[in-house]
Amino acid sequence: MTATREGDGGKEAVRVSLWQKKCTVFALMLGVPVLLYLIAMALEHTGLAVYGEIPAIALLGVIPGFLLHLCWMRCPHCGRHLDRNNGQYCQYCGEEIDWDAKPGKE
Ligand SMILES: [Zn+2]
Repeated sequence: MTATREGDGGKEAVRVSLWQKKCTVFALMLGVPVLLYLIAMALEHTGLAVYGEIPAIALLGVIPGFLLHLCWMRCPHCGRHLDRNNGQYCQYCGEEIDWDAKPGKE
């Protein structure tokens, strides 16, 4: 219970719902490696040895994805990290999570 909590007044310039954030994180963490793999397969015919580079490049997508996951996947009520909770309710405070709600609504 030592999590630091600060009011996020106007921190969120872009209004993006939790669901959209989740998709972005997924796209980074899964899409980037898959895309790289597909590109590598396509390049294989050209004789370029690109497979060795994939893990390093894939990390460039996975690491930001993971950081965004840590920053974004938070309960809108208590601010705690939801981790892999895809449910309707926060596992900490029990409040309902509106995955489509955009922050800063009037
Ligand atoms: Zn909560």
